[in-house]
Amino acid sequence: MPLPIHHLPVLQNWDCHVCGTCCQEYVVTVTDEERKRIEAQGWDRDADLGGHVPFVRQGPPWAREWRLNHRPDGSCVFLGDKGRCRIHERFGYETKPLPCRLFPFVLIPTGDHWSVGLRYACPSAAANKGRPLPEHDQALAEFAARLAERVHLKPLPDGSLAPPPPLQPGQNVSWPDVHRCVQALLTLLRNRREPLERRLRKCLALADQMRKAKLKHVQDARLGDLLTVLQKSADTATPDNLMKVAAPGWIGRILFRQAVALFTRKDHGPKRGEARHGAIARLKAAWRFARGTGPIPRMHDGLPETTFEEVEKPRGPLPLEAEAILERYYTIKVGSVQFCGAACFGMPFWEGFELLALTYPLLLWVSRMYRDIPREEAIMKALTIVDDHFGFNRILATQRQRASFRTLARQGELPRLIAWYSR
Ligand code: SF4
Repeated sequence: MPLPIHHLPVLQNWDCHVCGTCCQEYVVTVTDEERKRIEAQGWDRDADLGGHVPFVRQGPPWAREWRLNHRPDGSCVFLGDKGRCRIHERFGYETKPLPCRLFPFVLIPTGDHWSVGLRYACPSAAANKGRPLPEHDQALAEFAARLAERVHLKPLPDGSLAPPPPLQPGQNVSWPDVHRCVQALLTLLRNRREPLERRLRKCLALADQMRKAKLKHVQDARLGDLLTVLQKSADTATPDNLMKVAAPGWIGRILFRQAVALFTRKDHGPKRGEARHGAIARLKAAWRFARGTGPIPRMHDGLPETTFEEVEKPRGPLPLEAEAILERYYTIKVGSVQFCGAACFGMPFWEGFELLALTYPLLLWVSRMYRDIPREEAIMKALTIVDDHFGFNRILATQRQRASFRTLARQGELPRLIAWYSR
């Protein structure tokens, strides 16, 4: 019996508006079955492919795989002049490779159901444009079945398709306990009586207390009771006025700017930034981010030109429209468990949440680069850039990078950065 699809009670819409962004920027791997099916359509003799072969092999000799070929500008070889997929146009939507059909959805097996996450790298997802997500359920159920087959997911003894993420290393819990922690975060995140920045600082206080507590034998209803108590103490421990929060320390600032460089970096496709000038240019950019003065290196070609000094200037509280976009973003990411476990490089629950919370000051920082457009529009643009990396850029999962994020969390820099860039 297939697991059902679950949505969160949050108004999120989506439909593809054929902007072509995903077809210009991603590497799409295909199974042998997909490759053979598309090859049988006769593309190797088709003039529209401009002499390029449809597929190329990639990866080390012991893990070779096929992917869709790219043109020299980085776009998919099947992308047509009007931004449409040629496979879709000529042979129908159903014949496209699964990753192309699935994007921007992220299906996550979370116990007795599939949760539906979303990639806000898609401009239509960030702008909330299209039909409500539940209207895609029929397609999502088909994608879930194909995905389970593609990545060889088999039912475990408890009926789930994947083991739950540990809360932290060595602290394994059941799926219902993971959902208890998710609910605790959602309760704090959805409290509209206070600004989103304080809600996130409270979530971080809860994460900090949960990490420090010795919880090996606290499970089921007792874990629920503990979370209720710690939610209340997170409220007391979190200053209500962001001006009472200490400024980030020097280590926090340096590691944060390094995170900005990483989360804005575009190395592939027509919008690639400093990467187009080679390794030396990237090294110079890294040095300028470490220094943090003067013009900001353009790691992504879509970012406007500005300086570090300009971005540091306070912009005041976010307008309600911008807060609503971000509340939707964090509710979907947390509620769908898209911030840890299988959807985020196998990260433990609280570590994954701390990385997600780091995206808040990152989004505010990047949105400050857009000075000439309304702030909600700037937030949407920042979301498409920053969320492109979250859960997908493998550099985020390297030991060195995780150590850097852990330092930000353990030194208490995350709530400081959130308050600092919310001024
Ligand atoms: S980025 Fe989103 S809207 Fe644009 S083509 Fe891809 S799925 Fe469609």
